[in-house]
Amino acid sequence: MSGVVVAVDGPAGTGKSSVSRGLARALGARYLDTGAMYRIVTLAMLRAEVDLNDPAAIAAASDVPLSVDYDPDVDRAYLGDEDVSVEIRGDAVTRAVSAVSAVPQVRERLVRLQRELASGADSVVVEGRDIGTVVLPDADVKIFLTATAETRAHRRNDQNVAAGLADDYEAVLADVRRRDHLDSTRAVSPLRAAEDALIVDTSDMPQAEVIARLVELVEQRSGAMR
Ligand code: C5P
Repeated sequence: MSGVVVAVDGPAGTGKSSVSRGLARALGARYLDTGAMYRIVTLAMLRAEVDLNDPAAIAAASDVPLSVDYDPDVDRAYLGDEDVSVEIRGDAVTRAVSAVSAVPQVRERLVRLQRELASGADSVVVEGRDIGTVVLPDADVKIFLTATAETRAHRRNDQNVAAGLADDYEAVLADVRRRDHLDSTRAVSPLRAAEDALIVDTSDMPQAEVIARLVELVEQRSGAMR
């Protein structure tokens, strides 16, 4: 199979990253994590002590050198030459990223970069919030993952505990709801499913099953494209 473009969107905690990586691996496709790109820009803002209540200041400081890995087995993100893969997953960045990703100039720049990175002859799985709606509206297959806020908070809290962080389900649930609200009500590219996206609720589905189902869907779709 060659040249299939798959968009995977949905809120945090739906298993989106693991599912997207698993799908890319199964398809022999490249993988692009657009959330990592917003996180790298956010880290640069925090380091430069940019006022996150000031969209003009965020826009002015947003042109930072960033890169991410395409290999689904390598979770690497760079700010300039520095490997910031671990730091961009930390609490400080997670708390600040919605404010940065709501700024139109930040989105315009990253969307342009994402389109460039996703172009090419080989297959690619692109994961984010607005891939099927804004970044790649002509994607061959669009998937929107959902799960209840409680399921997503439990998953996130379990990950925190496994990483040695605090065990605080209520705080995580509050953060999941806060980010859902910010991401779905922002003026530019709010989080929503594309009209032609397949909506998959992962609340009660084991991850391997989600991946198998999506592989099947992509194969059917790309068979129909041939
Ligand atoms: O996917 P991840 O949780 O790493 O994304 C971090 C944040 O980046 C999201 O909460 C959202 O604010 C932003 N984002 C976005 N558009 C994307 C991907 C991520 O606004 N395509």
